[in-house]
Amino acid sequence: MANLQPRETRAASLRALSVLPVFLDLAGRRAVVAGGGESLTWKAELLAAAGAHVTVYSPQFSAGLLALAQEPPAGRVQIVDRAWRTGDLSGAAIAVAALDGADAYAFAKAARAEGVPVNVVDKPAVSTFSFGTIVNRSPVVVGVSTSGAAPVLGQAIRAKIEALLDPSLSAWATAARRLRAVVSANSSMGPARRDLWRRFADRALAAREAPNGDDLTAFTRITPSRGGSVALVGAGPGDPELLTLKAVRALQSADVILYDRLVSADILELARREARRLLVGKTGHGPSCRQDDICALMVKLAREGRRVVRLKGGDPMVFGRAAEEIDACRAAAIAVEVVPGITAALGAAAEILTPLTDRRLSRRLNFVTGHAKHGGPPDHDWASLADPWSTSVFYMSARTVTITLQRLMQAGLHPDTPAVMVASATTKRSVQICCRAHELASAIAQVEASDPCLIMIGRSLGARRDKFPPAMSPERNHCSNAAETEPHSIAAVAAGGLDRLARGNSDIDSN
Ligand code: SAH
Repeated sequence: MANLQPRETRAASLRALSVLPVFLDLAGRRAVVAGGGESLTWKAELLAAAGAHVTVYSPQFSAGLLALAQEPPAGRVQIVDRAWRTGDLSGAAIAVAALDGADAYAFAKAARAEGVPVNVVDKPAVSTFSFGTIVNRSPVVVGVSTSGAAPVLGQAIRAKIEALLDPSLSAWATAARRLRAVVSANSSMGPARRDLWRRFADRALAAREAPNGDDLTAFTRITPSRGGSVALVGAGPGDPELLTLKAVRALQSADVILYDRLVSADILELARREARRLLVGKTGHGPSCRQDDICALMVKLAREGRRVVRLKGGDPMVFGRAAEEIDACRAAAIAVEVVPGITAALGAAAEILTPLTDRRLSRRLNFVTGHAKHGGPPDHDWASLADPWSTSVFYMSARTVTITLQRLMQAGLHPDTPAVMVASATTKRSVQICCRAHELASAIAQVEASDPCLIMIGRSLGARRDKFPPAMSPERNHCSNAAETEPHSIAAVAAGGLDRLARGNSDIDSN
């Protein structure tokens, strides 16, 4: 098998943005507001809260505006009792108006001519910026925009973020400023600094109270550099929503991600943008990185002080070569942890709404590899796999399906035992074929050779075929009631399997 070198891949490029969120520093700057209606009071208050010196030009003004001028939240609010004039805009940092007809257009034009960002209420066509909804935990400020598409949705999003961020975050972020000064004065901290900020962020986000002096002293205490670490993280079978919270957090704090081909782009999308991404293969029968090389690379990166995430399809502890990787870390005295993921079999079972165990039909669940070094199926206790009271899920078995089935049947498996083949479970490409055991090879022959697939055999897989989800479209998914299917000969099944062998198959990924 050809030996692949780890290949650096780039984060997916940013999708189109309908607006660019920027955060304006208005402290002490001039803000021009034209019009005196109630709708402007909130905007004037916002500008003043951001520290701007706000001048409102209007021949009439509301009671609310008057009250604001008497008690502004931060910057001054001054009311000038006349209509705006072109010269008013010079030197302004921002301009906002609620005006009608030609006056609105004239105001926007004058602001643009002065290079002043302008917003005219309800006139997006002449405005150069819009206000989003805000979650205020200053100095942390979150802005939400739906680009005018759905303001109520924007409000709902804001409410969710409000609930997520405790009010004490404000105090934590303020304390971070002080902490930053202490930390940057201490040049001996080196790589421990990054670790400190990670710990600080974890605490700040979990806190329900403002930090006290002790909290902060604990952070300033110099900790020796912990060096790098390795996390073997389960990426689940494909759907990014099946990642655990812990997996997402690991991805978001990774410096380097070593990932397998089975891990989808959607999942990598969740990683920190700055994280290096290295594809280390496991590309079936194509070139793959040697396991030793992967272990060596992992150790080298961690020794350089990096947080390495070794991202694997499904669960790292199921047919994932985790033992070698854990041992390599331990031999090098590198901190290693495992973040479990949903293994492909469980993703597949969920997708077909069929339990793998059913107390009336199946009392044992076998996760079986179909792959062995010599290319055929490994030696198994075939009689135990043929036990009618068990359900067996075969991973990496596309190449060996024909011989596997022959062995199972020789050991007593009934050829009509209900079976399901699931390819690319939990992804948009997912295909499920429900059949009987002796039809599995032809089922596998129907999916792309590059799609990972599982075969599952056992009576419990036939128990709920009449209850399959309607979403399983008939074109892509072929499920029938096993009892109604015509039996096929073993020879036909073998032919199907050989067909697939001739086409080659890259189903073997990790063993
Ligand atoms: N650690 C993984 C298994 C790695 S072995 C896990 O826990 O799922 C690789 C094999 O897993 C593939 O050959 C295929 O048999 C199976 N597999 C992985 N993802 C799959 C998916 N989305 N659909 C079907 N089978 C999958």
